Amino acid sequence: MSQENNINQYRRRFLATAGAVAGISIAPGVILNQVSAKPVDQPASSANRWGMLIDANLCATGCSECVSACHEENGVTGSGNPQTDANWIRKVKLTDKQTGHVQSIPMMCQHCENPPCVDVCPTHASMKRADGIVLVDKHACIGCRYCMMACPYNARSFVHEPVKEQIYPRGIGTVESCTLCVHRVDDPNAPRSTACVDACNSSGHKAMWFGDLKDPDSEISQRLKEYGGEQIRADLGLNTGVRYQNLS
Ligand code: SF4
Ligand code: SF4
Repeated sequence: MSQENNINQYRRRFLATAGAVAGISIAPGVILNQVSAKPVDQPASSANRWGMLIDANLCATGCSECVSACHEENGVTGSGNPQTDANWIRKVKLTDKQTGHVQSIPMMCQHCENPPCVDVCPTHASMKRADGIVLVDKHACIGCRYCMMACPYNARSFVHEPVKEQIYPRGIGTVESCTLCVHRVDDPNAPRSTACVDACNSSGHKAMWFGDLKDPDSEISQRLKEYGGEQIRADLGLNTGVRYQNLS
């Protein structure tokens, strides 16, 4: 499927979603939605839960191939100002104060099972699909940024600049974050992988895996079963779809 066809396909889906919420009025002091999931006309099934696994020991300090690949794949560009540019994935440095051991890990939307960003969104623009992917519908987003404040992982960005390229619907004045490369997930002919995972493999570090956490035979499930996996801030009870190994 061409990129243009992909964009049109997503536009149609999201315009349908925007129509479903058009009657909602926003007022000061509005009671926030208690939404755990928003069904949309998308080929998503609760039989799947898409997620990622990252081995912190294999992720190389100084490497940002995953970041570059994500932003290239999704047309995430900006003015070069890190304070205002959208950032779907970033490298985070972890330093053990006791030992001085340094690790560097990629951080993106954790695709929480119980996403606070969805709970606080007053227009249902923040949504969780049946297959666990958390998205923002730019046609319903009013740019209030409640979700950015609610996300404990600082995973969301506000789009300050006009958007020139896009494969997933994006727009100035709205909020966005990692889509788990949903355009690939929804395309049966696309590789069952994400751009960041592909780039990590190509770099030779092979620190990232993408797959179905509900499929016991998937590589990601097998690795988690054998080696275990941690959630960042597991104490929050969000049951993240992104897990990490060998965090120290
Ligand atoms: Fe929402 Fe943040 Fe969780 Fe992603 S990591 S689902 S943006 S709360
Ligand atoms: Fe970016 Fe896709 Fe990786 Fe998410 S899964 S960080 S959208 S490349």
